[in-house]
Amino acid sequence: MAKVVKFGGSSLADANQFRKVAEIIHSDKHRRYVVPSAPGKRFGADTKVTDMLYACYDAVLGGGDALKEFRPIAARFNEIISDLELTISLDGEYDRIIESFKKKSGRDYAASRGEYLSGLILANFIGYDFVDAAKAVHFKPDGTFDADLTDASLSMILGGYKRAVLPGFYGAKPCGTIKTFSRGGSDFTGSIVAKAIGASLYENWTDVSGFLVADPRIVENPAGIETITYRELRELSYMGAGVLHEDAIFPVREAKIPINIKNTNEPRAHGTMITPSADSDPARVITGIAGRKNFSVIHIEKDEMNNEIGFLRRILTLFETEGVNFEHIPTGIDTMSIVVGSGVLEKHPNLPDLILKVARPGHMDIEHNLALIAVVGRGMRERRGTAARIFAALAHNKINVRTIDQGSSEINIIIGVNEDDFEQAIRVIYDMFMLAEDGS
Ligand code: ASP
Repeated sequence: MAKVVKFGGSSLADANQFRKVAEIIHSDKHRRYVVPSAPGKRFGADTKVTDMLYACYDAVLGGGDALKEFRPIAARFNEIISDLELTISLDGEYDRIIESFKKKSGRDYAASRGEYLSGLILANFIGYDFVDAAKAVHFKPDGTFDADLTDASLSMILGGYKRAVLPGFYGAKPCGTIKTFSRGGSDFTGSIVAKAIGASLYENWTDVSGFLVADPRIVENPAGIETITYRELRELSYMGAGVLHEDAIFPVREAKIPINIKNTNEPRAHGTMITPSADSDPARVITGIAGRKNFSVIHIEKDEMNNEIGFLRRILTLFETEGVNFEHIPTGIDTMSIVVGSGVLEKHPNLPDLILKVARPGHMDIEHNLALIAVVGRGMRERRGTAARIFAALAHNKINVRTIDQGSSEINIIIGVNEDDFEQAIRVIYDMFMLAEDGS
């Protein structure tokens, strides 16, 4: 049995955080493969090491002195090393990095050094072997991630180590050039490592005790989510509930490995368990509520639309040829609405005219300032009246519902409201389900 444990930047921001991480790792012998991020912020106004590296590299490209520009970064790592009373020196590594910066080794290479150096220190501190991700995480020559090759080489290489630290966020192309994932990509590294070694669990350690039922900036002191399925999480993260990098779900989901989101600063808290499937009759109907503002709806009406074969295809083909992404298409008998991000219409101002041309609708109008709210819960399928409760709560609070979309999966109801009603709508839905079910 092996667990993969990934620690985010805030978990490795300074020596004190490194100590907490070491204690967590040593308290469970199954925590055998460790994926660290680069040191993050120590306090609100601090700068993450990754951002320092980008800025440093840009300064060198702009003619700055590499040695001088790199000094504050070396100082951050040296402070961690000396506070931990380690005997290693990274001076040789710093020299190599500075030389590579001078040779314009690329922004990805620059950014990756945060995870690389953090991994070297952590491996030394906890007594694990260090495996450079450049040797085991592969990108194709065109820069896309090579999942199959990576899976094979990660399992082969890590199979040779009982315990190892492998830095997150980067890998290399066949020519050896370093390439990073998108920001927050160490979550993804943890996920591919977990899949490759067939882990029993992927623990993702961060600075919150898992996911919350609703955004704490909107709902005061929301409850935490104990268990969530991959499907539910996907629906919620699409709507902006972010703790985990979006792509990180897929590798472990495919391998049916659960993810446990845990808090380095509160290791005893249960956190959130993300599982392939969960109890079919969960205690709560609603698992989470999330939403986003800034959508527009294109309403299209045409007599006998339902009899006109190819109507939808013509519109969707137009969206495809124009490269326009849409969110939802709630339809009626002779009406359809296309919900798009408001930015889409700014980017494609001629879209309405093109729709008129290809679809010749009887009427078309566009409404802006729409917010979408996703109410997600696997418990909905089992219980009647969920939609009724949502709409009753909104109606009692005089919130007008502008669009409704319930997918056939029945784990998600998406409601469109005016942006001005967004926060209040989330609060009343939260209260309707969470307070009522908690008996308060
Ligand atoms: N250090 C990288 C970032 O700040 C990757 C990560 O932390 O996951 O985006």
